[in-house]
Amino acid sequence: MNFKDLYGQAELRRALAGALTAGTLSHAVLICGPSGSGKKSWGLALAAALLCQGREYAESCGRCRSCRLFKSGIHPAFFHIRPQGRRLGIDQIRRIRGNFYLEGGNRVCLIEEAEQMTAEACASLLKILEEPPPRLYFILLTGRPKRLPGTIVSRCQCFTLQPLKKEEILDLLKRQKGLAPEKALLLSRLSKGLPGMALKLAEDPSFEGRLAEASELAYRLAAGGWTSRELLSLAESLTGREDLAFFLELVCLFYRDGLIYLLCGSEELLVQPSEAKRWARAASPNALEEAMEMLQKLVQELGETNVNRRLALEGTLLQLKRRFASCPG
Ligand SMILES: [Zn+2]
Repeated sequence: MNFKDLYGQAELRRALAGALTAGTLSHAVLICGPSGSGKKSWGLALAAALLCQGREYAESCGRCRSCRLFKSGIHPAFFHIRPQGRRLGIDQIRRIRGNFYLEGGNRVCLIEEAEQMTAEACASLLKILEEPPPRLYFILLTGRPKRLPGTIVSRCQCFTLQPLKKEEILDLLKRQKGLAPEKALLLSRLSKGLPGMALKLAEDPSFEGRLAEASELAYRLAAGGWTSRELLSLAESLTGREDLAFFLELVCLFYRDGLIYLLCGSEELLVQPSEAKRWARAASPNALEEAMEMLQKLVQELGETNVNRRLALEGTLLQLKRRFASCPG
């Protein structure tokens, strides 16, 4: 993994390149960003650069013994820990701690989902960070920096990964997955600038099926004809979906396309124009816009803890039924 293979993140790229070449990198780096934003790729590229014996500017060379060991996953000075189950316990740090104090070249410890460290693990890490042995570097990755103790965060050089631009995601999908432009465009929108999510969707064999399901649901809701009882049973079956929030975003996407079709013709559509025409016949622009708002609000609610998924779904489906029933308007 090399920095040049990674997309975007101009600030992080500049900071790491400057610190690596000047030899001023902090002994603890914290990389924050949501799931799929590329934290691990950046962390691994930084680890490889720190361990490389023939670094070229800020990049690992990919050829030296150290780089070969790193690529094979057996570098003796690279310690990679991640939660076991839900927690990252002190035993995981104790097991490798002795290695941190050995003489020799750089050593790197990459900690994934650092926010899952137990209080004891945090205390142990903090002790090391307070008096770091020379040439030992920690790279902490987290999607929830607020859950890390402030005492640890304050000892780290912190970076937050930014969403990639649409063009960057398109280029990534084209280069790595060879996707057709229409599908790449659709995935770039759905991935919200998260390269990991875009790649995951591109590899997902169930994606087309889920898209078709979402299209059907969006159309049937807009076309009406469902009784309240049917909607309640639909809510029950949707509640069990693991991908519920994402699935609702797909439904929302179809309403967005319907709206664009109604307002601007067939330009800029993410799904096939024939799909969009179905919405045009089924609903008015106002109803589609309000339906999108209702779905987005529901997706937001589902992201909160303690929400009753089924009740929230039932409420929104009934609201959608009422809104589309009063079309046009
Ligand atoms: Zn190398």
